[in-house]
Amino acid sequence: MPEDLNDCKIIQDLMPLVIDEACSEESRRAVEAHVAGCTNCAKIYETMKAAVPAPAVDANEDHTITNLNY
Ligand SMILES: [Zn+2]
Repeated sequence: MPEDLNDCKIIQDLMPLVIDEACSEESRRAVEAHVAGCTNCAKIYETMKAAVPAPAVDANEDHTITNLNY
């Protein structure tokens, strides 16, 4: 069933924006609906989410370590 290949590409393009919360609610729902039914995209989505660090947490940890060293 290769009819969704274009859809996969569009969804994968949207994924970084969804993870970054830089897209519309509509796009986020489209991505989540797609990964729910597409194993391949679900894997890519999980990998992307795991690869993106949470900047706030990182900064906090850095700060704590710096304070401890002082
Ligand atoms: Zn897909």
